[in-house]
Amino acid sequence: MSLLLVKLVVVATFVTCAAACDTRQARCPKTPTPSPKVVHCLPPRQRAIDLTHLMQEGMPVGPGGVPFKMTRLVDYDQGYRMHKLEVGASTGTHVDAPAHFVEGKRTIDQIPVDELVVPAVMIDVRDKVKANPDYLLSANDIVDWEAVHGPVPVGGLVIANTGWHRRFVDPEKYVNQDAKGVMHFPGVAPDAAQLLVERDVMGIGIDTLSLDAGAAQELVTHRIMLAANKMQIENLANLDSLPEVGATVIIGVLPLANGTQAQARIIALVPEVEEGEEQAGQ
Ligand SMILES: [Zn+2]
Repeated sequence: MSLLLVKLVVVATFVTCAAACDTRQARCPKTPTPSPKVVHCLPPRQRAIDLTHLMQEGMPVGPGGVPFKMTRLVDYDQGYRMHKLEVGASTGTHVDAPAHFVEGKRTIDQIPVDELVVPAVMIDVRDKVKANPDYLLSANDIVDWEAVHGPVPVGGLVIANTGWHRRFVDPEKYVNQDAKGVMHFPGVAPDAAQLLVERDVMGIGIDTLSLDAGAAQELVTHRIMLAANKMQIENLANLDSLPEVGATVIIGVLPLANGTQAQARIIALVPEVEEGEEQAGQ
């Protein structure tokens, strides 16, 4: 191929791309063609949403939980600043691995990374929780949600937005113990967990201290999920920014050898709505 011909091909390719995209930041086509004409396009634009609570002293823990503590070991007058962290494995936004409840099941480090980047859906039960702080997201809530949005994704994360995450800044209101010491916060009902196991989801996330509600006598929902080798994420933040469908969630859990629970930075990637497009799920 002569140099001139190469130049012509390059120019032709550029013109094709420019014509197909007509912006400087051309987006890749949603359905890739076998021989794409747009050669230097960008992936679809996505917004990152942080679903993680800030880690700081004073953050809420349930009875028996280990509070977060950060101690300064070295300071700038010695050349640099460094801290020691002390924290219970279930303090703050964290993942429960199946081995948390069931000996021999997967530990935190045995969860493969391709199960840590998953499609996520959000089920909104905020109104029901407003009327009843002990509300349990039920199998019926999931069936009603599916009637509108279609089935929850196999291998995906189902997130219950109870609205409770907004109380995290106020530990007393978040843990919400009554005069007898019984906690009152919402959770996920055993029948919902059973249905989600049947749907073969990767796990459930919630914006409270526990998937089992504060007043639960037995941790039945934990047992159903973890015995089925599923994962749980607790103390999620910022769920009001999450769409009901269309997000991809990155579960940046600490790779804790033989761990049964560990802190995680949870980031949701949400497609940005381009002009003229309808929002996913609407
Ligand atoms: Zn848990």
